[in-house]
Amino acid sequence: MKRFVIGLESSSIMPLIAVSPLTQDCYEIIWGRYLSDTLIVHNDSVDELKSIFNFRANTFFSNPVKRMEKIRDFHPRGELSLKGAAMKLLLDGQMGGWVGNKNSRVQTFFFSDVVDAVSNDIKDPAHFAGVLVQKMKAKLARYNQMLTPANGTLTVDIGQILPYWGYHNVSPSLFTEKRTLKIQVLPDNELSEVFESYPSATRRDAYHYHMLKKERVEQILVGDANYSKNICSCPGCRAYECDVKVLKDTSRKRILNLTSPRESGH
Ligand SMILES: [Zn+2]
Repeated sequence: MKRFVIGLESSSIMPLIAVSPLTQDCYEIIWGRYLSDTLIVHNDSVDELKSIFNFRANTFFSNPVKRMEKIRDFHPRGELSLKGAAMKLLLDGQMGGWVGNKNSRVQTFFFSDVVDAVSNDIKDPAHFAGVLVQKMKAKLARYNQMLTPANGTLTVDIGQILPYWGYHNVSPSLFTEKRTLKIQVLPDNELSEVFESYPSATRRDAYHYHMLKKERVEQILVGDANYSKNICSCPGCRAYECDVKVLKDTSRKRILNLTSPRESGH
């Protein structure tokens, strides 16, 4: 029998399905203390993640797939290869935002491995562009599929995790774990309109927090350090106490030998 109900949120699901600076901490915490608990998340949290790589505005600056099509017109100059040109095009999008689908840095993290995977034998720019765009679409489809529950359950398998931020963020030993995580995706239990008066930056966090508290979770696991400032303060949420555990990037700093003496506790 399961002991506790643990609430996850967009920011704690993402590190499980794509390598990020919080991936190591997220898996260590879940495998270390939540394995015999029930993990839940709401539908809107999963939808929020899907929207990160859903490039609705089909413009050069917002859609990296659109930008890549420009490689067809590539004229070799100097030592720049087709892959080098693709990396520059990836970066040449909009700036700003930590996540969000218009951030070219996020897009470059997500697609650089796809550029790398194109065969070096392809020298023709149009052929290269065609293959690259196809691989980008395949990675997007894979990402969406990983976020699509089957019978109300997301199954998370570390062996299937997508490259996003580099593998330098995780310990190779993470991949020896064969157990999968089952996360129940629950229907939203509140209307998002209730949170319309909140600032747009905090609205969705407050909404997810509120819905998890309504489920009476014992603990909420989040990856956003600002999350506890964004929480809902409705009478229902104020009356129900639960811990908010915030993921940190100290595990990745340990792997990279970047831990300061203060953080390592010495
Ligand atoms: Zn509330």
